[in-house]
Amino acid sequence: MKKLPREILRQEDKPGYEKEVWQPSWKCYCCHDLGIVRPHLVAMLIDGYDYRHDKLPRCQNQGCSAGSSYDSSELSNCIDYRLSPAICQELDMIEREDWRQTQAEWHSTRKHRQVDFSSVVQNLRPTNRTSGEQMEAMRRSEEVMARIDKGLNDTERKEMLLRTGEINSL
Ligand SMILES: [Zn+2]
Repeated sequence: MKKLPREILRQEDKPGYEKEVWQPSWKCYCCHDLGIVRPHLVAMLIDGYDYRHDKLPRCQNQGCSAGSSYDSSELSNCIDYRLSPAICQELDMIEREDWRQTQAEWHSTRKHRQVDFSSVVQNLRPTNRTSGEQMEAMRRSEEVMARIDKGLNDTERKEMLLRTGEINSL
């Protein structure tokens, strides 16, 4: 009888499956569709900006209407309207590029880690390796951890790793 190939039910059980990096789905990268420009972006324009004490810059990015909910008269004294559409557009581009790079880094970190972890596993096997080789193995695994840490320098990056199951908590 002619054989049929397996039909794997779950995507993640398929050979060669690689978990996809979490993709932000914001339309507006300036405010992440929240209407208020993200604090780390505002900090590029306003030295010492502190979102807990300063007025909140309303996003005026073209095509983004998320900020309109802040325009009521009760709230308007808490809102900073100085970030023009042109500024917001530039911040949007910066944030978009940052995310593109974060994702590229994530993929390369992942690749390095796969390579380096396999060599770490190899080094766990009982062999007659010299202490020099052992030091080299340790140095290599520390390098890998440092590389992973580098990619984890803000909450959103952590959140990304959290969502992909790479880490368990923030
Ligand atoms: Zn916006």
